[in-house]
Amino acid sequence: PGKKVLIVYAHQEPKSFNGSLLKIAVEELTKQGCSVTVSDLYAMQFEPRATRNDIVGETSQKRPFSKPSDLHQEAEKSLPEIFPRPNNPNSQSVFLGEFPLFWFSMPAILKGWMDRVLVQGFAYDLSKAYDGGLLQDKLSLFSFTTGGSQELYSKEGISGDIRYVLWPMQHGIMHFCGVKVLEPHICYAPENVSEEKRKEMLTAWTQRLKTLWKEVPIDCSPQWYFK
Ligand code: FAD
Ligand code: ZN
Repeated sequence: PGKKVLIVYAHQEPKSFNGSLLKIAVEELTKQGCSVTVSDLYAMQFEPRATRNDIVGETSQKRPFSKPSDLHQEAEKSLPEIFPRPNNPNSQSVFLGEFPLFWFSMPAILKGWMDRVLVQGFAYDLSKAYDGGLLQDKLSLFSFTTGGSQELYSKEGISGDIRYVLWPMQHGIMHFCGVKVLEPHICYAPENVSEEKRKEMLTAWTQRLKTLWKEVPIDCSPQWYFK
């Protein structure tokens, strides 16, 4: 109770594997008594581009900031809820990103969410980064699916260690803002495995969520990714 989750979801198709992972997260976390908010980015037709419309104040500063627009709504939803100020250690909150891997990264619509919602002054300040960042005491978890198999994403595999892909999202975005990072949840190649294996992956996700709040964040240092 009192725990808050913001799920930012980036898949076009509700019947997709990502759609099933989302459904499980909403059901399980709601069952636990958490307050769960979903931003279904494609359904919302979220504007991912940080255009000139986002810039207020001196244009010389080129500083995107919230305006009474979709950005403002999104900021209102995520900012005070998930990242309340002042930080309250008694109120735990998690940012959960749910998406398919696109070109070793997140889909553009989700990247745009990061670009437009995590704005300077609210989410980060150049003088207070990483462990001293503005969004301390919050947690993040990236849950995503791939087309490639786990073997391809091993250190010796042709695609390289999956941790290289996680580096910009987990360290460059979340940790930079002061948010702690939980172990990522990766479902490899749901399109290419058996129906049984898919069911297993979905069950594993449900199981993980049951003890989510007991998890200890990962180390999230350059060594974790590139050792
Ligand atoms: P889906 O195709 O929706 O689902 C897989 C299967 O699971 C389907 O048969 C579906 O019916 C079934 N399913 C859904 N729900 C359930 C359920 N409850 N129980 C049982 N079965 C279920 N991959 C990489 O590895 N690296 C990349 O860099 C990369 N870049 C990409 C770039 C683009 C632009 C695109 C379009 C794809 C890219 N991919 C990449 C592949 C992509 O990551 C995968 O296609 C995606 O992760 C698969 O997830 P999905 O949710 O779309 O799967
Ligand atoms: Zn880090």
